[in-house]
Amino acid sequence: MTDQEQATALVQRQAARYREQIEGRVRAAWANGGPRAAKPRGRNDRGGYRYSVTSRDGSRVYTVNVDGFDVGNVACDCPAGQHGTFCWHGAAVLLRLLANREAKRLRSAS
Ligand SMILES: [Zn+2]
Repeated sequence: MTDQEQATALVQRQAARYREQIEGRVRAAWANGGPRAAKPRGRNDRGGYRYSVTSRDGSRVYTVNVDGFDVGNVACDCPAGQHGTFCWHGAAVLLRLLANREAKRLRSAS
């Protein structure tokens, strides 16, 4: 295998793992109420939207800011989210956006 082929294989494996992680978070979001798990809290100061998502055990409420219709535009203040990991709270917000007209607005803005 050439260096280029090895690099391509590496990127493909990483992309597949990343995709599996995102799909797992979306499954968890559906299992925890789907779009209804994300409660709207109005606009944020960047022109995006703010949502609240309650933890699975009900003990904490996390804030999710979304500034575009993409995994990379979701920021949650849960422990995973603070480390830049896409969490199910963020996935729930994207599901909510899909169900709302805000999705169209964010798509056209990005
Ligand atoms: Zn989170």
